[in-house]
Amino acid sequence: MRQFDYIRPTSVVDAIAAWSPGAAYLGGGTNLVDLMKIGVQQPGRLIDLGRLPGLDRIEMRPDGGARIGALVRNADLAHDPDFAAAYPMVAEALLAGASGQLRNMATVGGNLMQRPRCAYFQDPHSACNRRVPGAGCAARGGEASGLAVLGWSDSCIATNPSDFGVALAALDAVVEVEGPDGGREIPFAAFHRLPGDTPEIETALAPGELLLALRLPAGAAAFRDHARYLKLRERTSFAFALVSAAAALRMEGDRIAAARLVLGAVAARPWRVSAAEMLMVGHKPGPELFAQAAATALEGARPSGDNAHKIELSRRIAIRALTRAAGGTPARLPALPACSLGVPADA
Ligand code: SF4
Repeated sequence: MRQFDYIRPTSVVDAIAAWSPGAAYLGGGTNLVDLMKIGVQQPGRLIDLGRLPGLDRIEMRPDGGARIGALVRNADLAHDPDFAAAYPMVAEALLAGASGQLRNMATVGGNLMQRPRCAYFQDPHSACNRRVPGAGCAARGGEASGLAVLGWSDSCIATNPSDFGVALAALDAVVEVEGPDGGREIPFAAFHRLPGDTPEIETALAPGELLLALRLPAGAAAFRDHARYLKLRERTSFAFALVSAAAALRMEGDRIAAARLVLGAVAARPWRVSAAEMLMVGHKPGPELFAQAAATALEGARPSGDNAHKIELSRRIAIRALTRAAGGTPARLPALPACSLGVPADA
């Protein structure tokens, strides 16, 4: 039995004051507690955020933006009718993540703080630079079929496991944080770090900083009519993505006025390439245009092991997501959202 302190503060100020090196903030616990059970994370102090007031609110803003408290449960956000109507791609991504039970428990803040789903990371007996800096990476030369094809380094080839984050990246979300030195905002695009030589530093959060809320900017709802999130996984009912894509278009007449395309599960952060989006602007939607956008989004992709197939899968799911977005957001999200490549195009 390994002992640790357990604290339940009732204010953000107290939560931050309770933090010290080796401590961890606890949201829904669906990732952290699992990792504690298998000995991958061993915080000396758990700071339970469950009693912090006001962090479980969803605020819809008249300018088309929204603010989502970090303690909102994934299921509550996905099923909020106003939120799902304004940001169907985000709701679809949330519903694609985990199982119903986990979505009921997991928080949106915790979703963005998930640790890698690399099997070697989850095995305390394997070498892992994220767990022990400088220890090496057992995934290099190991089983890497689900790991990164973009932005990886020799130090780490893990991918970011979040579905939600892929949709947030497409809508230019902003992360609000509070820490020992005060509050600040982090553009979502800069929130997750690529591994480089320091894969153990996974986010832009400074020590002790606490994620308070996510903000979708004014105008984010303008993509509501043409927005989809698709996810390919080995088991449709409940599995992390092999690859995924968020695609959104703002149409003016029959032309694309603005485009968003983000790939998931290909890198240590959601993968967005602005050149791939810009090349679609001013054009009519179509297969050739979408193939060009997908190819541009995947420029520089290379296998990190036995995973070259992920490059082709990513290309296909990007084209499929753009095609479905162009076809229009369904009035009702599919019963099994984020369906795999083999289902009918209107699903
Ligand atoms: Fe660890 Fe990254 Fe290597 Fe996986 S890929 S073992 S997370 S260093």
